[in-house]
Amino acid sequence: MLNIILFGAPGAGKGTQSDLLVAKYKLNHISTGDLLRKEIAEQTELGKRIKGIMDSGSLVSDDIVVEMIDKAIASDTQGILFDGFPRNVAQAEVLDQLMAKHGRSLTCMVSLDVPKDELVRRMLERAKVSGRSDDNEETIKNRLKEYESKTLPVAAYYEKQGKHIKINGFGGIEEISANIIAAIEKL
Ligand code: AMP
Repeated sequence: MLNIILFGAPGAGKGTQSDLLVAKYKLNHISTGDLLRKEIAEQTELGKRIKGIMDSGSLVSDDIVVEMIDKAIASDTQGILFDGFPRNVAQAEVLDQLMAKHGRSLTCMVSLDVPKDELVRRMLERAKVSGRSDDNEETIKNRLKEYESKTLPVAAYYEKQGKHIKINGFGGIEEISANIIAAIEKL
C-alpha cells in the first residue's frame, strides 16, 4: 500500500499534483489545509478559532492537525496521499508514531522544488480565482517565511530516513507528474 507525502512550498503545485497522483494510484487525498478550510466554511467552533491564524499565514497548532490525521489514517483502507502535512519536524515525528500505531509505514516523501519568485507569481495568479483569503501579498510573505523556518527542515528529516525524493516542480504539469510517477515506480 502506498502512503506518500507530497511536500513543497506554498504555490509549489501540491494541490494540482495531488489530484493526478490520487487518480493514478487510487489514494485517499488528505489535505490538512482543505480540512481546516472546511471547518471555517462550516463555522464550527474550531473553524472560528483558527480563522485568524490561517488568514495571517501562520501555522495552526500541531494538536489540531494531528487529531485530524490520526482519524484519517484510522479510517483509510486504500493508501494515503498527505498534502500539506507534516509542516514541521514535530508533526513528522508524530506521523511516524501514528503510522506505526496503525500498522502502516510511509513509502516516501516527494518534494516539489520551485524557485521562490515563481512561487510568488503562481500564488498571486491563483489569488485572482481561488477566493482564498490567504492568497494576498502580505500573507504570502508570511506563509513563505513559515515554510522556510518551520517546514523546510522536514525534508532533511526524511532525507535521513532515505525517503526523500526531490522533483523539479518548475515546468509543465504533465511533465512534472510523469517525473513523480517515474520516481515512485522506481522504488
Ligand atoms: P495549505 O492549504 O496547505 O496551503 O494550508 C493553508 C493554511 O492552513 C496554512 O497556512 C496553515 O495556516 C494551515 N495549515 C495547513 N496544514 C497545516 C499543518 N499541517 N500544520 C499547521 N497548519 C496547517
